[in-house]
Amino acid sequence: MAIDQLASKIRAGGRLDRAEALALYTQAPTALLGRLADEVRARKHPDNVVTYIIDRNVNYTNVCVARCTFCAFYRPVGSSEGYVLGFEEIFRKIEETIAVGGAQLLLQGGHNPDLPLEWYEDLFRAVKERHPTFRLHALSPPEVIHLSRMSRLPVPQVLDRLIAAGLDSVPGGGAEILVDRVRKLLNCYGKASTDEWLGVMRHAHVKGLRTTATMMYGTVETVEERLEHLFRLRELQDETGGFTAFIAWSYQPEHTELGGGEATGVEYLRTLATARLVLDNFDNLQASWVTQGGKVGQLSLAFGSNDMGSVMIEENVVRAAGASYCMDEVEIVRNIEDAGFEPKRRNMHYEILGEPIFRERAVPRMLELAVARADGDTGRAPEVVNYPARSAAEKKARLTGH
Ligand code: SF4
Repeated sequence: MAIDQLASKIRAGGRLDRAEALALYTQAPTALLGRLADEVRARKHPDNVVTYIIDRNVNYTNVCVARCTFCAFYRPVGSSEGYVLGFEEIFRKIEETIAVGGAQLLLQGGHNPDLPLEWYEDLFRAVKERHPTFRLHALSPPEVIHLSRMSRLPVPQVLDRLIAAGLDSVPGGGAEILVDRVRKLLNCYGKASTDEWLGVMRHAHVKGLRTTATMMYGTVETVEERLEHLFRLRELQDETGGFTAFIAWSYQPEHTELGGGEATGVEYLRTLATARLVLDNFDNLQASWVTQGGKVGQLSLAFGSNDMGSVMIEENVVRAAGASYCMDEVEIVRNIEDAGFEPKRRNMHYEILGEPIFRERAVPRMLELAVARADGDTGRAPEVVNYPARSAAEKKARLTGH
């Protein structure tokens, strides 16, 4: 089908198939892709509102056995740079988040063999005891699979235990590209195959949890594989309706084993717009300003996004790979308004919470990304000694305290 016929099909509310999406992505002018995506966005969100959430992305540990080749964040077991955050450190981060108007933690980390399921349950319970209404958006599908393997419990049972302890929703991390050929090349097939990643999300949705979906593009995938990722998500969304939003970000190459370059801003906008056109059953698309910067993030509101994502007062994973953009609520709101939209605060379920909080009361400005822990801090989390370690290095460290 010619590009103008595809444009007419989209304008009439038609659904793209794989060949049509490929034709649009590879042949349509960028301005047309953007216009079509913007029309779809306006159809889904006619109120001209762009949302964002005040939350904090806390990476509870950087110790990881998965060793994905695109990751600059992890440290191997036994590394002197490895850390596990203590419960008190996490509580302090929650209190700082509440102080700037946040009500949610995005909690993700490495696959640490020395943190058993009970550690997560105890942490979640302790958070909920202190702050019953605070939300835990936690543990991406590969982390759930890691816990399932370590505890020798099936994924649904792991989810049940985490939900009982306080899990509210599941972030869509670790999806990278949902094609096994790509996952094998990136050394992330072992942590979760395509079907395993989708399987965790299916179980989560069936249990009533809402989740997000992500895509990290720009490594070794072909355009067809990038689009296949979108179609796999669309199929699961047809089945369960459990995804709240889709977020795409480009691979950040600095300090990674894989190396290479970063996709351009135009490639990001084309990918985003195509996602808006393919994912006709997703309500929300987030702009990825953390990897693209504020200006491309703002431009993405004209390419299909209706949400600026998280104020993200801490980010460690993409920061480790060289991206260090930072915007607090004031900046996000300025970007939304300058693009001609009305900013509203939301929760994880995309329910509107209200106007920008800094217009209601004084909140501290956050002009630099916080980090999980300060450089040179080698302190050990006090409570880890209460849990059995699996690795030889950590068994020894828990005995000697070093
Ligand atoms: S991306 Fe996640 S799972 Fe992969 S090495 Fe990094 S921390 Fe580990």
